[in-house]
Amino acid sequence: MADPRYFPTERDIVTNGTGQAALHERAAEVTRGKFGKEVFVRAVVEVSNYCRENCAYCGMRRDNRALHRFRAGYEQLAELLIHHCPDTVTDVNIQAGEDPIAVHEVVLPLIQALRRETAHGISVCLGTLDRELYAALRAAGATIYIMKFELGDEPNYEKFEAPGTFDERLQNIRALAADGWNVSSGFIVGLPGHQPRELMASFRLANELPICGCSVSPFIPGGDTPLANFPPVNANWTLNSMAALRLMRPDWVIPAVSALNLTEKDGYRRGLRAGANLVTMNLTPTNLREDYIIYKRERFIMTEERVLEAIAAEGLTPSRQGLADYYQQGAACAQPAAARPA
Ligand code: SF4
Repeated sequence: MADPRYFPTERDIVTNGTGQAALHERAAEVTRGKFGKEVFVRAVVEVSNYCRENCAYCGMRRDNRALHRFRAGYEQLAELLIHHCPDTVTDVNIQAGEDPIAVHEVVLPLIQALRRETAHGISVCLGTLDRELYAALRAAGATIYIMKFELGDEPNYEKFEAPGTFDERLQNIRALAADGWNVSSGFIVGLPGHQPRELMASFRLANELPICGCSVSPFIPGGDTPLANFPPVNANWTLNSMAALRLMRPDWVIPAVSALNLTEKDGYRRGLRAGANLVTMNLTPTNLREDYIIYKRERFIMTEERVLEAIAAEGLTPSRQGLADYYQQGAACAQPAAARPA
């Protein structure tokens, strides 16, 4: 049973052994109680690795001159998503660096084509844009905006050069929600020197924002970034954060991110046991995704086969209901009833 008074503690984040097993079991129980054995299944296409931002933790930062940059052709992606999308996929996520040119030239025509030809729900993860572009994306047919707040406290947000300013990011998340978008957000765990005490600020912020879902991204040092020589996150902190998030917000959609498999073997499957209820198949054409390096060049690509194997191995099944449909019902986006920071 979900405990409406639950709020994550530092102890939850660092727990291991039997304490960790109990935390993950509680999270799994709450997830199954709310969603049964079904997990949402979406596809992602990565359409541009140009980015005007300079996040210290990301290989696509603008100062990485070594990276070959690309923008995909929308016709190739439209053909792929309209005619060759796996049957289990209900939603498509279109993702890019912060690249307004790609939004105009690739994303908008792709959404229009998808809206004409398919019933897929459409989400976008495109960074901080101006209000006219948000409105154009909405008019084209996207309903979910993924905007991660990355770090829950301003000093660390600035230190790691996260996009724009902390205040601007939060204003954009709130404005998107006020304009009718279903907003999903996310934060990073394990950046250098970032301790569980500071992570509590991320939970507090997630709990306050008008969002319907939240991801937990493990810090993986990227080769061509200023953080290349720092150690990766302790895998348990990431999984424990996912479980804590699930207990804090039982209705939320929490993705299993592919990078979980970079933190430990079977990390992705452990994520599905710790509260995740969304899986993502990467359908980006192979020649393009090699240069989409949010983490490091050696990515762990979750193909259709790997995703289906992982959910079957955990005794789960693809949801018949789409993510956009679920969000439209509104339950996940309701403000918390009684969850309180300790
Ligand atoms: S995390 Fe996003 S906004 Fe930041 S540099 Fe990478 S692609 Fe750009």
